[in-house]
Amino acid sequence: MVDCCSAPGLMPFAQALETMLAAISPITEIENITLSEGLGRVLSNDITSPINVPPHNNSAMDGYAFAQASLVAQSSLHLVGRSMAGQPYQGICGEGQCVRIMTGAKMPEGCDTVEMQENCQAENESVRFLAQRNKGDNVRYAGEDINQGHEVFAKGRRLSAIDIGVLASLGIDDLKVFRKLKVALIATGDELKSLGEPLGDGDIYESNSYALAGMLKNLNVNIIDFGVIVDDENAIRTAFMQADEQADAVISSGGVSVGDADYTKLVLEQIGEIAFWKIAMKPGKPFAFGKLPNSLFFGLPGNPVSAMVTADLLAMPALLKLQNCHSAPAITLKATTLTELRKSPGRMDFQRGVLSYNNDGALMVNSTGSQGSGILTSIASANCYIVLPTEQGRVKAGESVNVRLFERFYS
Ligand code: AMP
Ligand code: MG
Repeated sequence: MVDCCSAPGLMPFAQALETMLAAISPITEIENITLSEGLGRVLSNDITSPINVPPHNNSAMDGYAFAQASLVAQSSLHLVGRSMAGQPYQGICGEGQCVRIMTGAKMPEGCDTVEMQENCQAENESVRFLAQRNKGDNVRYAGEDINQGHEVFAKGRRLSAIDIGVLASLGIDDLKVFRKLKVALIATGDELKSLGEPLGDGDIYESNSYALAGMLKNLNVNIIDFGVIVDDENAIRTAFMQADEQADAVISSGGVSVGDADYTKLVLEQIGEIAFWKIAMKPGKPFAFGKLPNSLFFGLPGNPVSAMVTADLLAMPALLKLQNCHSAPAITLKATTLTELRKSPGRMDFQRGVLSYNNDGALMVNSTGSQGSGILTSIASANCYIVLPTEQGRVKAGESVNVRLFERFYS
């Protein structure tokens, strides 16, 4: 694997992402599930519609159905019956005739147009039409939502709540989806305490795995939480090996740089194939990606902001690929920065910002303030990254910058 550390300089962010994605083969195992289990699952085949939706021409209004040609000459039609939703009119509606019709009811044979009841005066069996209608008005056509045989969703689509509704409208109850991924989470650090434990001198509460578990819920994966592992080579090796036996991907945080207690890289070199990268991005310079015997490995930096940003921008896209999932590219916009942005050339910055409109409707972005890699609230209060290119230096207030909206992983 590529080892960027031996190369002079840092690896550009785009190259790191591309190299990592190229090394990932998506899973192939498929499961059969029912539609009610489908939310958040990834389709393993294209879905074409077995029927027209709607299946028949029907009325968009409560009113009267008739043949538009028969109304041109006369303003009253003879009422011959009614068509209700689910109880169609069985006869043929002839010239000079109309049928009482309700929203969603099948269009009677012989009818091509509907007038809403507010524009009609019914008296006994005669209906007076107060307005003229064009042929086809207020009719919903068979197949106007989805045509039979038409591809509705492609393989790789993650099913949303609306997708589930669309599939139900097609009468589809059996789905083939890729199986769920299993992702192991490991936090490393002697100073880390789990919630509920007292903090000793020099300790902090472990937060990365909680936030990462939340991000992973958006990918609908099964999480295997290994908790906190101390900074000890053997303990880390044992945890990584156990995680590798159980998971498709292992995500650790901490111990990935080159400090005295940083064992991630060392252990990975022993038991797997590892690419350790210094990426030209801020936050998140040290990042390990590699393969263990059975799983992918992502070694995130320990600093909470660096861990979240590298998870969002590198690990999540990798897991999406592993899941076979197609995802829309992130939305990037141009906005005017309201504040000066401190930056030195050399790395691509993903500063945290709040995007909003000013009174003239122009997009403005405000920095969330201190951008230190330990300040997790700098993400909590943001809705976007302010993406500053590698060679960019300080940005003055009033200048235009690229802004990338947060994806759903942070929600
Ligand atoms: P490391 O990458 O292990 O050198 O850690 C860098 C910084 O991130 C240190 O201040 C750690 O205390 C902190 N840190 C590491 N892992 C976590 C974690 N899981 N939750 C919160 N902070 C962490
Ligand atoms: Mg550490």
